Amino acid sequence: MAVAVNSQLNPLENAERQFEEAATRLRLDAGVKDMLKKPRRATIQWLPVMMDDGTIRMFEGFRVQHNIARGPAKGGIRYHPDVSLEEVSALASWMTWKCAVADIPFGGGKGGIKVDPRTLSRAELERLTRRYAADLSDLFGPESDVPAPDVNTGEREMAWIADTYSMHERRTELAVVTGKPLEVGGSQGRREATGRGVMICVEQMCKYLKMPLQGARVAVQGFGNVGGVSADLLARECGSKVVAASDVTGAIVNEAGLDVPALLKYAGENRRGVAGFPGAKPLAGSIIEVDCDILVPAALENQITSENAGRVRARIVAEGANGPTTPDADKIFADKGVHVIPDILCNAGGVTVSYFEWVQNRMGFYWPEAEVNTRLREKMVKAFGDVIAMKERTDAGAPGAKVSLRIAAYMVAIQRVLRVHELRGMYA
Ligand code: NAD
Repeated sequence: MAVAVNSQLNPLENAERQFEEAATRLRLDAGVKDMLKKPRRATIQWLPVMMDDGTIRMFEGFRVQHNIARGPAKGGIRYHPDVSLEEVSALASWMTWKCAVADIPFGGGKGGIKVDPRTLSRAELERLTRRYAADLSDLFGPESDVPAPDVNTGEREMAWIADTYSMHERRTELAVVTGKPLEVGGSQGRREATGRGVMICVEQMCKYLKMPLQGARVAVQGFGNVGGVSADLLARECGSKVVAASDVTGAIVNEAGLDVPALLKYAGENRRGVAGFPGAKPLAGSIIEVDCDILVPAALENQITSENAGRVRARIVAEGANGPTTPDADKIFADKGVHVIPDILCNAGGVTVSYFEWVQNRMGFYWPEAEVNTRLREKMVKAFGDVIAMKERTDAGAPGAKVSLRIAAYMVAIQRVLRVHELRGMYA
């Protein structure tokens, strides 16, 4: 069975706890801490949409810009019934730290609409997306705020946003959004970028731990863009064995290894999902607790909590999703010796290739996929190395109080953002 999102756990509180721990390690003073914690701007939009039957329905939308010191706000747009201002604020702050860890010249933002897109027709979804984009056209812009896909949004929605913004501007402006179809200024390799980044991080982690990746058993929670591509690349390019996968339709297992390309095809047909895949058995119990070497949570927040972290059997948890592990679960992992590759590092491949897409749009010159993938690898390997170096430096300076890779990643990011604030000075 798919694990339900635990609504008692507030992602914003979790993001703030993580930030606090890193800020304390860095001995930031209270005012600086507050400045880096609070979002620059948070907006709520009530969006009227004409439904196919002629009735009007109101939808609640959000856009949060967390920090823009290093560049335009960057972050995806999520369509989900559980979207809230707090969730979007947490996700926006993670984007600030992620862009800084990846060392790309963006700040952090995020958006969302409280909607279950499966209950809307294509035409209704298009009207909702365009209404949201039109309402935010003052905030959006290649120099100010550049959205991207997130849960339940993809190339189609990004093309609608680019078109709506362009109509308002009276010219075609493709760099306003990333994750677009190739024909509308998308980048080669963008669709696979987050999963490819997850794969590169897992490779680096295995190298660091001197653990073989070839033949390692992988379980993937969430089989959408991030989970599906991560599973495919880990199997195809690293020779790992994907033994379990799940999505909203259910969870499946095959200890001999799933045929990932066949599963992708099966799950993708009419958005059928993984349940009922003929090459596997239904999984009894939670995928989080499945016997594997590498667990890739790639669905939503708060999937690994103090309730189930003790039963995780993987040695590596590679966070494809944003915020899948709560701070209490992190503590359990530290005691158990489970190595977490934190979201702000592990899933930074998506925003990194979004940056490449934005650069290509502005140059009007497009790179072949091999060039995109080479540049992505360089960025991810450098970011991974920076985080490990921070951990080792911090641990050497404070023996007995080891820092997790998550807190080390935050420390790298906070230092980079703070440095820009210091150089730019305070306009007040
Ligand atoms: P998606 O909509 O393509 O896929 C989400 C998947 O999760 C679907 O397979 C869905 O069925 C599954 N799912 C949802 N709830 C579940 C549950 N309770 N249990 C099991 N499976 C469940 O979304 P995505 O773009 O792959 O995003 C997944 C995660 O990765 C999110 O946390 C998102 O913020 C993060 N992320 C995405 C990108 C990106 O480029 N798309 C980049 C960085 C991080």
